[in-house]
Amino acid sequence: MPEFDEDSSFRFLTEQCELGPRYPGSPEHRRLQRYLVDRLTEFGANVSLQSFDGVLTTGDTLHLINIIGNYNTGARKRLLLGAHYDTRPRADRDPDPENRDLPILGANDGASGVAVLLEIARLLGGSKPPVGVDIVFFDGEDYGEEGVAQDYILGSTYFVRHLKGYEPFAVIIVDMIGDRDLSIPKEGFSKAASSDLLEEIFSIAGRLGIEAFDETEGAAIIDDHLPFIQAGIRAVDLIDFDYPYWHTLEDTPDKCASESLGCVGRTLMTYIWAQR
Ligand SMILES: [Zn+2]
Repeated sequence: MPEFDEDSSFRFLTEQCELGPRYPGSPEHRRLQRYLVDRLTEFGANVSLQSFDGVLTTGDTLHLINIIGNYNTGARKRLLLGAHYDTRPRADRDPDPENRDLPILGANDGASGVAVLLEIARLLGGSKPPVGVDIVFFDGEDYGEEGVAQDYILGSTYFVRHLKGYEPFAVIIVDMIGDRDLSIPKEGFSKAASSDLLEEIFSIAGRLGIEAFDETEGAAIIDDHLPFIQAGIRAVDLIDFDYPYWHTLEDTPDKCASESLGCVGRTLMTYIWAQR
């Protein structure tokens, strides 16, 4: 099993943030799509794009793209690792009302999950995993207005509606896992629907001595795992929702730490290599 390099992972976080806010419709969102395709290609994945229109309850249409990188394409047994790459178009939780229409940088909320999965992609490009691994960067997770649930998680919702026989044995979503003060509880929907998968991941983290995985039960959060759970697929969300800079202009790389990416990355790599 190759070793997860948290400094390399953190560079993927800062490179995304250097593009600027990356919300659907912005040139920076397009630039990030190219960046992700380039990295997955560089790291030897079989890359494909799933383009679709996300129609909001406001009537607006977003042109969205899920970006997929497959490893060990010959394996029947397949694991899906997912993260959303879009960032929120408005800092609606910013303490300063003047900032609330401005887009966020999304260092933790967006870039952190992608950064962990890009580092895993880099490693899988050099060492074939024991099972098939499909890395999916979901679009349109975080565009909706607060309280309008159906305008969130557009990419994963579309993905699950177009599975065409694809059935991963497990889905692990990572989101907001870059917090310097990382603490990942057992997210509510994951625990209710996929407790065996969640326990397996937490016990691996425990064996590795990673204390960021804490044994408390967290809130139930609408995230990209939910469409999979609703389709009867085992899915969990690793998320630290206790982040004071959530949906503010202060969600910047200095609030994140490479060590936190390492905690999640090492756990996921060990999980992959345990699926022989
Ligand atoms: Zn968010």
